[in-house]
Amino acid sequence: MDILIIAEVKDGALSPVSTELFTAARTISADSRVSVVAIGNGVKSAVLSLANLGASVVFLAEPRDLTPQLAVSFIGKAAAESRAAVILMAESDLGADIAPQLASKLGTAAVTGVVALRNDNGQLIITRPVYGGNAMADFTIDTEPQIISIRPKVFAPAASGGNQTAETIELAAESPANIRVIEHVAVQQQGPRIEEAKVVVGGGRGLGGPEGFTQLKQLADLLGGVVGASRPPCDQGWWPETGQIGITGKIISPDLYIAVGISGSSQHVSGVTGSKTIVAINKDAEANIFKAATYGVTGDWKKVVPALTVKIKELTGG
Ligand SMILES: Cc1cc2nc3c(=O)[nH]c(=O)nc-3n(C[C@H](O)[C@H](O)[C@H](O)COP(=O)(O)OP(=O)(O)OC[C@H]3O[C@@H](n4cnc5c(N)ncnc54)[C@H](O)[C@@H]3O)c2cc1C
Repeated sequence: MDILIIAEVKDGALSPVSTELFTAARTISADSRVSVVAIGNGVKSAVLSLANLGASVVFLAEPRDLTPQLAVSFIGKAAAESRAAVILMAESDLGADIAPQLASKLGTAAVTGVVALRNDNGQLIITRPVYGGNAMADFTIDTEPQIISIRPKVFAPAASGGNQTAETIELAAESPANIRVIEHVAVQQQGPRIEEAKVVVGGGRGLGGPEGFTQLKQLADLLGGVVGASRPPCDQGWWPETGQIGITGKIISPDLYIAVGISGSSQHVSGVTGSKTIVAINKDAEANIFKAATYGVTGDWKKVVPALTVKIKELTGG
């Protein structure tokens, strides 16, 4: 089963989730031929890493202005050349945008936001959360290529094989006539991106205002993590929209998620079910978030968060 991986490249560096896709490819089949579309800027610098991860062919796609439509055009060409049976991409901003468009262009189907994959005698069983994260469903795709977008951190990063080589093929794509990039606005990014952070502290409406987020930031900084929020604080302007966690925000999979003053709506919880450990702090013992949590503290965050912060400082000498 030949596989085509979509690897996102920024300033010559592979996105961390791209290396996880190689582990996913090995899960499908240990002896698959793996081709890669390296898409972004500085893609040539990523060829060696991709070859060492196991790519035998690297298609280079370096548009001046990357739009989802242009990405679909590039990948469509690579799909035709590689004749891959499976296309793997990350459930990133780009991946979430292009998976359905690519499926439509190639006359096939896509399963997005995937959290598990297994090869059952040649039939891929693809698992993703459904009903806002309240249940898991297994899917199969009867047409090829099977398009699969995988949530970050579902698979471990693949180890580099070292000293491998790959054939490189430069791709050209038709620029869609109906889209013109007018301006690039860089998002201010401090610390890791929320989708890639190992620790996330999320604040909800229960914080009562923007001030509470200063305390969450202290806690997150101590743990080397980042702050996120449920939807109401983002709607209210207490926290930037780019930090919204949930079905219409970011899907996160940290080692530790601390949910503070968040009730645990299905729309929020479906964005955090990939977390290894969830700690919930809520004054309502009946709050739904406790059903998703590994550990729960029933109490007022104004007491619990400062006490937790002091204790962590004590333990870490921070
Ligand atoms: C189409 C659609 C998409 C949506 N997408 C998202 C999404 O992506 N992400 C998202 O988060 N939501 C999303 N929502 C909104 C979602 O339905 C909920 O309204 C939202 O998640 C609730 O946020 P919350 O838990 O912060 O607030 P609330 O539900 O109001 O909960 C606040 C919690 O804080 C607790 N609390 C209050 N005071 C304290 C205190 N002093 N100490 C401790 N605990 C306290 C309360 O007990 C309560 O449990 C979406 C809704 C729709 C319809």
